[in-house]
Amino acid sequence: MKNVVLLGSTGSIGTSTLKVVEDLPDRLRLIGLAAGSNLELLLEQARKHSPAAVSLQDPAKAAAAREALGPGTEVQSGEAGLIRLATLPEADIVLIAIVGTAGLQPALAAIRAGKDIAIASKEILVMAGETVMSEARRHGVNVLAVDSEHSAIFQCLDGKPSSSVRSLWLTASGGPFRRLPKADFDAITVEQALKHPSWVMGRKITIDSATLFNKGLEMIEARWLFDVEMPRVRVVVHPQSVVHSMVEFVDGSIIAQLSTPDMCLPIQYALLYPERVSSDRVQTNLARLGRLEFEEPDEDRFPSLALARRAGEVGGTLPAVLNAANEVAVEAFCARQISFPGISRMVARTMDRHEVVAQPTLDQIVAADAWARAESRRTGAA
Ligand code: NDP
Repeated sequence: MKNVVLLGSTGSIGTSTLKVVEDLPDRLRLIGLAAGSNLELLLEQARKHSPAAVSLQDPAKAAAAREALGPGTEVQSGEAGLIRLATLPEADIVLIAIVGTAGLQPALAAIRAGKDIAIASKEILVMAGETVMSEARRHGVNVLAVDSEHSAIFQCLDGKPSSSVRSLWLTASGGPFRRLPKADFDAITVEQALKHPSWVMGRKITIDSATLFNKGLEMIEARWLFDVEMPRVRVVVHPQSVVHSMVEFVDGSIIAQLSTPDMCLPIQYALLYPERVSSDRVQTNLARLGRLEFEEPDEDRFPSLALARRAGEVGGTLPAVLNAANEVAVEAFCARQISFPGISRMVARTMDRHEVVAQPTLDQIVAADAWARAESRRTGAA
């Protein structure tokens, strides 16, 4: 039986994680649940799973949860609440599925408390991949990927060292605008960008999938998770989203991981690693799928890939700046303040103006994140 703490339980990854836990009640137990503001759903989840502790971002909502759940459940709030949950003495693994950067400090706290972590929130590794991975090595804990692409690579690598890798191949669905001519990009609406062809996900990651910034963030995430430099992290468009990613080894052999798209599979793999446990949830019929296609990404229509490659190659504080500027740009696009191509332009402008700190401390990374948000808002409004 593994004791699981789930940060971001009310989101898309969070609710899929609950399904996995409910599928395997003899193997997984939820002992901590944290949400942002969705009090009602958190209460429903807490009544079903009876965790030892829960946390909400807002102290007023936490007070309401305290009243509703009674003295048997510890109720916390804010960042301190996330850190308390991430370090619960009984926790074996902490799954972090909070959108944005709020998961960084809880991730580090969990590692330092000797917990394995399963990371869905890619922002954590994009901002502070070097710090997170070196802390994990120092404390002898596993950092397991929940992102389907990184889970695929982890499964394909199967413990082989990075020296045996020629390239990591991240697959990208190409998003809803894979075939749209560049001339039509200025007219893309928020509603169109929110329609993903193969995955149902939270709002921010769905827009990131349309711009391909999601793939750019994943390139940087892969660079740190698997200790492979950026030029060996490559992207191929695969519209069916059945091959979740591939590893090309130095002898020319390519190993891929396939399944119909369902986040429950990588979540289960991360929570129960190194075991594979029987589940009927995911069934893949290759004959019915018929064909698997691959094509080059178009970096002219999707400048996000080159921006991410540059951020990953330069390193230091630049990936944090790319990530923060993109978050501000996505908000501005969703508020209809900038156009769809304006997202990449805002990120590029902010990156160009940043003075990179090489080998930054965590404080310098956090400062670069704050600078990039302020700078993007200032120039976005200009
Ligand atoms: P959602 O927007 O669906 O969910 C976000 C979750 O984070 C919600 O539970 C939200 O709570 C919670 N949250 C937000 N801020 C805080 C906070 N300060 N403290 C505690 N909880 C907070 O996002 P997704 O589930 O789609 O994505 C989560 C992460 O996983 C992202 O980083 C994304 O990139 C990554 N990811 C997602 C995939 C997917 O298929 N969805 C695939 C791979 C990676 P509330 O709703 O209560 O406010």
